[in-house]
Amino acid sequence: MITTSQELLEARKKIIAVSRELHEVGLLVRTWGNISQRVDEDSFIITPSGIKYEDLTPEMIVKVKISDLSYEGDYLPSSEKAVHAACYKNRPDVEFIVHTHQVYASCAGTLGIRKIITYFDDEDMIIPVAPYALPGTEKLAESVAFTVKKFPETNALIMANHGTICMGRNSKEAVIEAEKLEVACNNFLIDVCKTDMHHGVEVGFNSHLENGVIVYDIPDTPERVKRIHEKIYHKRPDVKYIIHNKSEAVMAVSRRANHMRPLLDDFAQLIGYSVKVPTNEHGKDADSYHNIKKHVNAIFSLNDGAYCVGKDEDDAMAVAIVLDKGCIAHTAVMRHGEGHYLSLLECYRMNRHYRKSYSKLADAGKK
Ligand SMILES: [Zn+2]
Repeated sequence: MITTSQELLEARKKIIAVSRELHEVGLLVRTWGNISQRVDEDSFIITPSGIKYEDLTPEMIVKVKISDLSYEGDYLPSSEKAVHAACYKNRPDVEFIVHTHQVYASCAGTLGIRKIITYFDDEDMIIPVAPYALPGTEKLAESVAFTVKKFPETNALIMANHGTICMGRNSKEAVIEAEKLEVACNNFLIDVCKTDMHHGVEVGFNSHLENGVIVYDIPDTPERVKRIHEKIYHKRPDVKYIIHNKSEAVMAVSRRANHMRPLLDDFAQLIGYSVKVPTNEHGKDADSYHNIKKHVNAIFSLNDGAYCVGKDEDDAMAVAIVLDKGCIAHTAVMRHGEGHYLSLLECYRMNRHYRKSYSKLADAGKK
């Protein structure tokens, strides 16, 4: 229980320290995920919405009421505050919560399984998966509350097609849960889905626009690749930066014609609701088979990874990271033989909502 303002300030600093720690080990990326600590029976403090972990300061950590989700101060609390409130409400012993979009646990949460039965070291683990609901909704908070009540002993759970919730009596316990969960889910993907893939971005041929001229990172970029870059800039005036991602998972997906439907919320939000890997049909050359579409931010190249696009390097990199995770999920689902795909309508809504709120946040940042 936090009573004095000094304790509250220390707690806010602790949240920032933990977010940096998780950011460093790769469990938290960019503005995705959120962290909270209980203050008392009816309130907690939580990271704000849409601010990068590197930029957090103590006054940005928002105090939220568990009972009605009202909050104090000038910063908007994380959009997943209802999920945190649901956990504090149903687990009086919990003092600290970490919500991440970590790779292997998120991918395991796309398989359509309600319980992941796996192991960490020699210890058996059962990881519950809360049924899918759109992010930021009351329905998602209800789904998590239902799962927390059903598995009262469990401190780590997955929100289907989204990410994780890790709880503890203190920050250390919650962080350990997140780390254990990632290893245990990777064990599951390797053993059950035969998917042993490294997560990351392997850069191929990147470029960006400078005063309307394409500048290639690698001077002797092949003509074949240059034609694709030219075509992307031509068809997508909003694009200023292209990252060519040739990671193991993206390469694997790019090897065969595919229709990638989103398996993860962040894929639907950042990349698009339907991404196609083109075929190398007769009569089509490298110029004509790339699917460059409005609001679809990854363009696959058959057997050559994907071009991830954005208005700057940061945006393109976000797409590259989320695409890599999406391709691991896609491969795991293919090999597992089943998975839970997001509906087109859900993806469409999330994509539109994300673009709107993202541009609003970007505008607010400029003030
Ligand atoms: Zn989330």
